[in-house]
Amino acid sequence: MDISIIVPIYNETENLDEFYLRTIKILESINLSFEIIFVNDGSADNTLQRLFFIAQNDNRVKIIDLSRNFGKEIALTAGLDFSSGDAAVVIDADLQEPPELIKELIKKWNEGYDVVYAIRKKRGKEPVIKTILAYLFYRIMKKISQTDIPIDTGDYRLMSRQAVNALIQIREHHRFMKGLFSCVGFKQTGIYYEREQRHKGKSNINLLKLWNLAVDGITSFSFAPLQFSSFAGLIIAIISVLYAVYIIIKTMLYGNPVPGYPSLIVAITFLGGIQLLSLGIIGEYIARTYMESKKRPLYFIKHLTGFNAEDLKPTFKNIDR
Ligand code: UDP
Ligand code: MG
Repeated sequence: MDISIIVPIYNETENLDEFYLRTIKILESINLSFEIIFVNDGSADNTLQRLFFIAQNDNRVKIIDLSRNFGKEIALTAGLDFSSGDAAVVIDADLQEPPELIKELIKKWNEGYDVVYAIRKKRGKEPVIKTILAYLFYRIMKKISQTDIPIDTGDYRLMSRQAVNALIQIREHHRFMKGLFSCVGFKQTGIYYEREQRHKGKSNINLLKLWNLAVDGITSFSFAPLQFSSFAGLIIAIISVLYAVYIIIKTMLYGNPVPGYPSLIVAITFLGGIQLLSLGIIGEYIARTYMESKKRPLYFIKHLTGFNAEDLKPTFKNIDR
C-alpha cells in the first residue's frame, strides 16, 4: 500500500458522497495504490449507512466504526493506528480542505520530507469570533510552547510511515494533534492553500470544544500558565512588602486615623481573584494528570469493515468484522 487517506467523520451525510468522488478522482489520477479509512466517530445521522454503501462497491474504502463519539483528535488517531500505507494523509470530510492538494503533498513527500503540512493562507468563511480566536491562539501557542508548532496549520497533512509509527506511540488522552504532529520531529515542511467553505452543514466543533482543545494544547505543550501563577504571586508579594513599608512610615509620621477601607477591599478581592485563578490553573494540570494516570484505552471499536485479518495488529484481531 502506498497511501492511506484518513478521514475522521461525524454526521457528514451531506458531504460524504461529494468528498468520496472528489478524493477518488484525484487519487486515481496519481497512479499509486491507496486506501481510504473512514473513522466514523459515533455519527447519529446516516453517515454510517452511506459509508457501508460506498465500501460495498469499492474495496479500497475501509471503515472503523467507533463505539461512540470520541472527538476528532481521537478519531484520527484510530485511523492512523490502522493505516498501512507508506504515507498517511489526514483530511476532513467537509471539503474545507481540498482533496486536490493531496497531489502536492505527495510531491513534497517524494522530495524526501516526512511530514508535509498544509498552511491556511485564508480561512474559509467562518464566524468572525472563531477566526479571531484561532488567529490569537496559534500565535500565543507559538510563543509559549516548547515545541515548534507551525501557525495557521490544521490537521491536514501527509506523514511518512516512519513519522506515523512515531506518532502512534504517543497514547495521551488529552491529545492536541497539531502539537503531537510537530513533537515527533523528522523532516517537516509546509505548503500553502486556501481553506474553502464547508461544503454543506455546520461545523461540529463549537466554541466550548475549541476552548477545551486550546486548554489541552496549552497544558500539553507548555508550563507557561503555572509560571504565570508563580510570577504573579511573586510580583504581588513584592508590592505588598513595599506597601507595608509605606504604611508603617506613614503611621509613624502622621499617626493612624483608621482610614483604608477601599484599599483593604481592593487588596482582598484582587488577591482572591489571583488565588482562584492560580488554583484553577493548577487544577487543569492536576485533572489531566489524573485522567492520564488511569491509562484507559483511547477508544473502543464497534465494527471494522474492509480490513483483512492478516493485516491487523494482534490487539485488533478479535474486533467484530
Ligand atoms: N469530526 C469528528 N468528530 C467530532 C467532530 C468532528 O470526527 O466530534 C470530524 C468532522 O466530521 C470533520 C472534521 O472532524 O470531518 C472537522 O470537523 P468540523 O468541520 O466540524 O470542524 P472545523 O472544520 O470547524 O474545525
Ligand atoms: Mg470543517
